[in-house]
Amino acid sequence: MQRAPLKLNIAHLYPDLLNIYGDMGNIMALKMRCAWRDIEVEVHNITTGQIINQADYDLFFAGGGQDNQQIIAANELIKNGMELMRAAQANKPMLVICGSYQLFGKYYLTSEGQKLRGISILDVHTEAGETRFIGNVTAVCDFLTVRTIVGFENHSGLTYLGENVEPLFKIKVGNGNNGVDKTEGARFNNVFGTYLHGPILPKNPHFCDYLIELALNTKYNCNIPLLPLNDEIEYYAHESRICAKY
Ligand code: GLN
Repeated sequence: MQRAPLKLNIAHLYPDLLNIYGDMGNIMALKMRCAWRDIEVEVHNITTGQIINQADYDLFFAGGGQDNQQIIAANELIKNGMELMRAAQANKPMLVICGSYQLFGKYYLTSEGQKLRGISILDVHTEAGETRFIGNVTAVCDFLTVRTIVGFENHSGLTYLGENVEPLFKIKVGNGNNGVDKTEGARFNNVFGTYLHGPILPKNPHFCDYLIELALNTKYNCNIPLLPLNDEIEYYAHESRICAKY
């Protein structure tokens, strides 16, 4: 029997403001890994001033940004905060990186002392620290088919997790949320906040597929297994970035 065509609508939040260290590569990875499996993808760029209707989207993505861009993005996110919260409560997957991870939390206190109010989907708060954490990260987790996660961090914000989120990954090499408690990122329902650029999805295809599966399963309300792909090159990239110390 012929399978009905599958389609995902991806909302890319503020690509004009939040896109550093190759974060756009995450959108490309999502698109390609769907296309290779005949899953149609439409990417909708959400721009400043736009009011979103969460029902139009199956997966949300936002990249990193420096403080100046974050100030504008924070105002934009607040306008759509309730709607994004609705999507989070409906288990729609969201991946938010670094600057947007901070803004999905309760607040980000910049080094200038400006408190940017977040949209509180993630029970975390962030305060600028004195050192900048820059470098490759190796982390582990227990919810993916491959245990290791690799990425690149560059942030001075120190993020602390509250009771209503789980740490996303556990740091093996690098600094993660705050350089102290060995946590990296945060998860609430299917909302994933992380400091990892890289971009994270092309070199962690197991995480990319996990997001695609969550989006399909939530949208179609059934379990849709993904066809396996030849990931030789992707895992070559992944393994070459696993820090030797780990
Ligand atoms: N401005 C934030 C920080 O340095 C976020 C930076 C980023 O998105 N890479 O903590």
